Order: sequence, then structure tokens, then C-alpha cells
Amino acid sequence: MMENLLPLCYMLAAAGFILAIKWMNSPATARRGVIAGELGMLLAVVGTLLRFEVVDYTWIMIAFFLGSAIGVPLAYLMPMTAVPQRTAISHAFGALASALIGTAEYYRHTPHGFTMLALVLETLLGFLTFTASLMAFGKLQEILPTRPITYKGQNIVNLMLFVTAVGLGIALIFSPETTWLFPIFAGLSLLFGVSLIIPIGGADMPTVIALLNSYAGLSASAMGFALDNKLLIIAGALDGSSGLILAIIMCKAMNRSFANVLFGAFGQVQTSSGKIEARPVRSASPEEAAEMLDAARSVIVIPGYGMAVAQAQHKLRELFDVLTKRGIDVRFAIHPVAGRMPGHMNVLLAEADVPYDKLIEMDEINPEFPMADVALVIGANDVVNPAAKNVKDSPIAGMPILEAYRARTVMVIKRSMSAGFAGIDNELYYMDNTLMLFGDAKVFVGSIVKELNANK
Ligand code: NDP
Repeated sequence: MMENLLPLCYMLAAAGFILAIKWMNSPATARRGVIAGELGMLLAVVGTLLRFEVVDYTWIMIAFFLGSAIGVPLAYLMPMTAVPQRTAISHAFGALASALIGTAEYYRHTPHGFTMLALVLETLLGFLTFTASLMAFGKLQEILPTRPITYKGQNIVNLMLFVTAVGLGIALIFSPETTWLFPIFAGLSLLFGVSLIIPIGGADMPTVIALLNSYAGLSASAMGFALDNKLLIIAGALDGSSGLILAIIMCKAMNRSFANVLFGAFGQVQTSSGKIEARPVRSASPEEAAEMLDAARSVIVIPGYGMAVAQAQHKLRELFDVLTKRGIDVRFAIHPVAGRMPGHMNVLLAEADVPYDKLIEMDEINPEFPMADVALVIGANDVVNPAAKNVKDSPIAGMPILEAYRARTVMVIKRSMSAGFAGIDNELYYMDNTLMLFGDAKVFVGSIVKELNANK
């Protein structure tokens, strides 16, 4: 009976994980995806408890209640803007669990051959992902300095650390009985995790976290081989590949290579290229902006990092409602790396209940800009910067952008002429058809809504 139940549990759990990833692809099915993933995890835990004849449930129950006591409040209390660092912490603990299980297995059984190879991979990736994720958490939470910390010969030192750790791992595979090697191997893996993150700037952390996600998954998958647990292999592989795909999508959308994110110390470029000349721009008041919006037939809103900073999504929803009621077509253009984490804009706009079918991806919305009367840019900068197309040596050269400049009128809400993440000036702000709306995004959008409501 038990023998039949276990494969069934594991198979359904694997199906749950796969469906979860599939459904999380679209905001409309994302909730269903979360539930599928949760059910999958429940079945995985039940299956595993069935697999081993548990004699004593005490420790399992303690872990269950302790984990729930931390996890449930964390999920409810964590603000949406802190999701990247929360993800980093989850990876840190997931990876630590994997590394500790590997360590326990090593000292209990001292496996040989292929199992030892899997165990070495598991612990190497587990330990380095643990410290790297903690560092990423520290940088995002600003407990640690967010700027990249670099020194001469850093890449060489990092490479040596990694090569030595791998070398010790190989030695352990060939002679697992040399137990004194293991703590040094584990220590070097932990140290490499720290040194890997030090040179990377805080703003690059979301991409790094996607990569760390992938490492934690690979570590779990290796653990599956070491423990002969097929579900762990599947779940780890799913985690590993989806993390890698996400990191690739993010790098592509920023037109940067992995090497550039990991070794480029990008944050440093910002100040050197950040000179912004004082050139005349046209600015407008909330009254004027409201008038122009009222006269439009089609408006495309482009949210960016500034919307997240100002938490302007709810006011934006009000603006959407007022304009839609007046028969104006309002859509939201979503750039894949707008904001500071994947899906940042989707999450915030969903929180404000903006209808999903009004959120349009970059490739689909770009041909629509020439037909739009107003492109309303809210706290976005790099993702609408024409320099990506026109300036060959720009730090963002080649990055695909939202072509707001092609709209009849462009209105840009931001507080000043300051640069965005890439630290460069934006030609869009100086164009003849652009109006700058200076102010905090939430306050300014609120004023526009008030103005529109007053002139019903
Ligand atoms: P940017 O960082 O280019 O620009 C944001 C703009 O928002 C700033 O120019 C700022 O101008 C304005 N702003 C800040 N606070 C407010 C406020 N309270 N009210 C109004 N405006 C405000 O953002 P984008 O979204 O355009 O681009 C994202 C950038 O981040 C890209 O370069 C991308 O590569 C990078 N990135 C994205 C990641 C992701 O996963 N999404 C991950 C890592 C990097 P001012 O100070 O004048 O108000």
C-alpha cells in the first residue's frame, strides 16, 4: 500500500510544481499557480514522511511549528517592496538546509563514487549560495554597503578561491575517507559565496538573486542524486532551470552579459557617466496635464521605478478609472526590467487592481505609440531612454526600450532632472513634444485626479 502511495504522491507533487511555474507566467492564472505549488509541496512532504518509517515525530513537529511561526508572519508582514530581500533569505535557508544534509550524509555514510560526486556538488553549491544569499539580503536591506566593493586583483582572488574549493571537492570524491579535508572545503565554499557578492552593486542584486535561485535549485537536485530522491531531483532541476532562465531574461532586457553583472561592478559606472547638463525643458502643472489627458483619446502609461518608490499605484488606478469613465483608452506599457525586480510593475499594479488585460508587454505596445495621444511616463527613466538606440557607447546601448518618444505628446512625472539606475541623461526629456511634470509621482497623479474630478 505504502509502496504504491509514495510514487503517486511524488508524481502529483512534480505535476503541481510544473503547473505552478506554467500558471505563474500570467497574472490572470498566477494565484492558481501559487496554490498548485503549495499543494505540490504538501504532497512532497507527506510522501517523504511515508517513505521513511518515522519512529518519533517530536522533532518533525517542532520544526513544523517553528517554521510556520516564522513563515506565516513573514508572508503577511513583509511589504511588497521587500520581496527581493525576502527571496534572498529563503534561498539562503534552502541552500543551508541542502548543505547541512550533505554534511550529515558525508559524516554518517562517507559515500563513494557517483553519490560522493553528487554530495560534493550539493555541499559546494549549498554553502556558497548560503553566504552569497545572506550578502545579497544585506545589500538589498542596506545593512551592508550597497555599492560594489572592489580591489585590485579581485577576480583572480575569487577565481583562486573557487578553484581551490573545487580542487578539494575533487580530492574528496577520489578519497572520501580524508575527512579533515571536508571542513576546509566547506569553509572555502562559504568564503567564496561572500567574495562573489562583494563586487556587485545593490541594484544588480535582483539579477544575482535569480542566479542564486538557480544555484540553490541545482544544489537540491544534486542532493536528490545523493539521497536517491527523485522528487528532489525534479524540483531542484525546475528551480535551477527557471532561475537561470529568469536571470537570462533580465540580462537580455538590460542588454548586459552575465559576466558584466557578476564581474563588471556596474554600479561604479554610474557616477563617471552621470554628468547631466542644464538644458531647458518644458514643464507643466497638474491642471495643464489634466487638460491634455482629458482631451486625449488614447493614453499609454509607462510606470517605472519611481512609481514603486512613491507607491503611486493606487492613485494611478484612480486616474485609470477617471479617464476610462470618460471613454479614454488607457493602457499600461510594461518593460521587463522596469523597477528593480522582475515583475515589479505587474505586482504593484495588480495590488491596485488594475485589470490584467490593460497591462501590455513591450513588444506588443511599441507599435501602438505613434497612435497614442499621450504617453504618460511615471517615474520611469532608463526604460524610455532613446540613447539605448541612438548612442553607441551609452551604458544602456542596445537595451530594448519602450518607444514613448513616438507618441504625440509625452508627459514625464519625476521629481527632478536626476538620472535613473544607469546614471545617464535622457534625451526624451528635452524633446519638443515632451512636458516635464515635476513632483512626487503619488502627489502629482493625485493632483491630476483631483483636477479631473473637479471638472466633470
Ligand atoms: P530608473 O531607475 O531608470 O528611473 C527611475 C526614475 O524614477 C528616476 O529617474 C527618478 O527621478 C524617478 N523617481 C524616483 N522616486 C520618485 C518619486 N517618488 N516620484 C517620482 N519619480 C521618482 O527606472 P526604470 O524603471 O526606468 O528603469 C529600471 C532600471 O533598473 C533599468 O536600468 C534596469 O536595467 C535596472 N534594473 C532593473 C531590474 C529589474 O529586475 N527590474 C534589476 C536591476 C536593475 P527623480 O529622482 O528625478 O524623481
